[in-house]
This record gives sequence, C-alpha cells and structure tokens, in this order.
Amino acid sequence: MNLSVLLIFLGLLFTSSVTQLSAKDYAELIPSRYRYYFVLSVYSLSSQNLSKEQIKSRLAHAQSKFDDCGIYLGLDRIEYMNHPQWIEEWETFAFNNGEISEWETWFFSQIFPRQNGIIYVDSLNWTMEGQGTWATGYGSFIHKHYQLDTASKVFYDDYMVGHVVMGLYRASWTLAHELGHAILNLEHVDNPKDLMFNGAQAGTPQFDSSGLLISDNNPRFTPKQCAKGILDNPRLLPNPNFVE
Ligand SMILES: [Zn+2]
Repeated sequence: MNLSVLLIFLGLLFTSSVTQLSAKDYAELIPSRYRYYFVLSVYSLSSQNLSKEQIKSRLAHAQSKFDDCGIYLGLDRIEYMNHPQWIEEWETFAFNNGEISEWETWFFSQIFPRQNGIIYVDSLNWTMEGQGTWATGYGSFIHKHYQLDTASKVFYDDYMVGHVVMGLYRASWTLAHELGHAILNLEHVDNPKDLMFNGAQAGTPQFDSSGLLISDNNPRFTPKQCAKGILDNPRLLPNPNFVE
C-alpha cells in the first residue's frame, strides 16, 4: 500500500480525528535522515488524560531511541476515546489464562485492522504499587509462547499486533521498549543495560512515588536489533524523502 492510499484510508477511518494531514503535508514532515517510518495513533482511555504536549514529549523520547535504527515515528492522531470505566485498568491475555481478554476484545473491535498505536490506560492488571510490569507490547513473536485458537490468532495478528498499552505510572523510555516488541517484533534479552531487557527484573531504571524517573541507564537499540526489526517488516514504510 503506498503512502497516499494509506493516508486516504486513514482519513476515511478517522473522520472525527483531531488533526488530519494530507499525504503531501505528511511526507514533508519526515526528515530526510530517516530511512523508514511508521504511523501511530494514540488513544487515551484513562481517567487522568495526558495532555497532547505530554503525549508528544513521550513520543519524542521514544523517537530518540528509534533514531539509532533510522526509523521515524509518525503521529497520525491523538484521540480521547469514550470508553467504559473498567477498561482504564487493562487486562491482557497473558494474565487471562492465555485467552484474549474482554479489554482487548472491546478495544480492538473499535479500530480497523493492521494499524499501529499506543493505548494509554491508568494501569495494567498486574501493576502492584509501583512494582511489576506497567506496560505491554503486542508483537507477533507471542505465538511462540501462547497457544491461541485459530480465531484468536487471526484477531491478534490483524488487530493487536503493532499496539502497545501503557499504564500512566511508567517512564517514557518504556514506550520505546514496548514499541520494540510491537513494531520491531523484538523479544526480551538478559542484559540489564539493553533496551529490551525485561523491566520487571532488577537493575532497571528507578522511579519515585509519582512515577518520575530517578535514574536511567539510557538503554538503546543495538545495530543488530535494528537490523532484525527492519528485516521483512511490513509495518515500516520507506521514507520518500530519504537521502543517503
Ligand atoms: Zn518487554
């Protein structure tokens, strides 16, 4: 699908969208140093909505990590979604006996297939007083770890892959980690200094009680991770402005 078709498609989907860019405007936004880009939608399903400025600041932080891979994060839209209150505390299939949860079914039935996005919620179901995991990224590698039935597998691949869910109590670098799962299809590694280290373990960045980052080992994607993530990746689009 080329860019103009994609943007017309997105435009038809999101007639209530906050900001719509024409294909020409959009292409002009992508700096020439990036070889690839992908387009994200941001959905707020939280009781404490982040402002557009806060969302853009978190995206900019994630962008600094994706810079190393030559990948630009395109923002299509920010939507403050009408939603049932229970979805603000998100439950994933990983904590639902490996079955796609009501939360996932509700949200992903609202959107069109083969999109990429960030879903902000208050918390995830295994968040425990600042301990544990606060975010998730839906990568297609998940099929190695869970036996989904055929219908669930199709739903997962068509609607869920490419999305991350972020609880509010989480530092912004985690967004890059989760997008590493969802967009680059990267799995966890054992090195605590690696961006794809499992953040639930020791040696990870420290936060204060308000969720502010106190210390950060500033993990980045490695050249090997970039190369793996870019290889045969249908979510990445070539930047028409790219100059070697
Ligand atoms: Zn992870």
